[in-house]
Amino acid sequence: MTSKVRARIAPSPTGHLHVGTARTALYNYLYARRHQGSFVMRLEDTDEVRSDQHYTDDIIDGLKWLGLAWDEGPDIGGPYPPYTQMEKTDHYEQIAHKLISQGKAYFCYATPEELDALREQQKDSGEGQRYDNSGRAYTQEQIDRFQKEGRVPVIRFKVEEDRVVSWHDAIKGEIQIHTSDIGGDMVIVKSSGIAVYNFAVVVDDLDMKMTHVIRGEDHIHNTAKQILLYEALGAELPVFAHVPLMFDHDRAKLSKRKHGEAVHIKKYRDDGYMPEAIVNYLAQISWTPPSGNEFFTLEEATGVFDLDRVSKSPAVFDTKRLDWFNGHYIRTLPLSVITDRSLPYLAEFDVSQYSREQLEQIISLVREGLTALSEIKNASSFFFVKEVAIPEELNSGLLKQEHSRKIFGKILENLSAFAAPDPKACKAKVDEIGKELGLKGKDLYWPVRAALCGSTSGPDLGATLAILGPDRIKSRIEALLQHC
Ligand code: GLU
Repeated sequence: MTSKVRARIAPSPTGHLHVGTARTALYNYLYARRHQGSFVMRLEDTDEVRSDQHYTDDIIDGLKWLGLAWDEGPDIGGPYPPYTQMEKTDHYEQIAHKLISQGKAYFCYATPEELDALREQQKDSGEGQRYDNSGRAYTQEQIDRFQKEGRVPVIRFKVEEDRVVSWHDAIKGEIQIHTSDIGGDMVIVKSSGIAVYNFAVVVDDLDMKMTHVIRGEDHIHNTAKQILLYEALGAELPVFAHVPLMFDHDRAKLSKRKHGEAVHIKKYRDDGYMPEAIVNYLAQISWTPPSGNEFFTLEEATGVFDLDRVSKSPAVFDTKRLDWFNGHYIRTLPLSVITDRSLPYLAEFDVSQYSREQLEQIISLVREGLTALSEIKNASSFFFVKEVAIPEELNSGLLKQEHSRKIFGKILENLSAFAAPDPKACKAKVDEIGKELGLKGKDLYWPVRAALCGSTSGPDLGATLAILGPDRIKSRIEALLQHC
């Protein structure tokens, strides 16, 4: 009987939620859901210096915002607590001591200075950088001396020399890594007593009975090290799958240094990206659904996701394409959803001057041209402000012209015609006024738009008039006639 799938996301709270971590979480989520398994969240907080609660909160909020709810994790519990590593320090140490007692690990007393000197020496002789495993052969005399000097040891795991570690990766296929490429005997517990990532992750994945380890390709060498630890602990290997990394157009890694906040989910949340768009975009960067469809929901992907359709090649994270996905979702998600999500961006306006129905009409008028929802503030401000800001060139040009004045006079005379919230009737009234004055096209429409919206371009004129209604139309035109 095959065991139930258990996949996990194991972020380190050393920075905001990265788009790469979000994509790895997504693939784990989809895989677990597809196979009716469990999706587990675990925080890898063994980096005492860089881990921060603020990042933990951001990661949890970000993953939830994307809709990647876990079945077990730090804030919801489950059968395998604790879900943070710092709470398991003693447990890791105990297992490390067991490895020592079996001759598979040892206390290493090399000082940072000695290790630096070794690195320098290897650099000078053109050798690859690795620990020289000299700690394996300490004499009792040496150990006594080190202890007398007050040296606090690390625990190193013996990495078999001249060995090829191989596994079948569920995405990349056969992988082979020679142990000469993984840096010599590895530290598994630091002198502070804190377990190192490669060790803690193996203990945790075993404790939590993970069946699948799906993570970024940058962990391939770690996987080789971890496989050696699984073997030393006499444990069965999980399935490993390495997701190709995402790069920018210059093939540079997505880093905060080069790309700033654009590598963090938080930026997209703040800027009014739709989680549906991000999930869809991230999912299809390295995976294509069997249907070949470009647009799909998380739920649709859940029904068909599998690792054999994940590409082996690196992918480009293209913010322009993400914008395109986002524009699609802004236009196609239910209007009520987009309206709710728009409201925070309109906080500085008095939105209560409109009914909910009118607000939805406003959003439906302006959402067409948006890339991100934060743009809604500028795109819709003229509906809300008391006085529309008119650019100087319109004020002193178009709006001063005689034909414009005539149109405004006629509109003021016919205000009641704009009382019914009927875009077609409002537009027809403007056309009728144009006919009376012998004006049409931009000669007719531009002055009206400019006076009401502060710009000669904008959403549908009839709908705009119908939403603004006679009172706003009147006060805007009167203000304009007074000022210019
Ligand atoms: N904490 C590691 C990271 O954020 C997790 C790697 C893993 O999934 O084992 O990259």
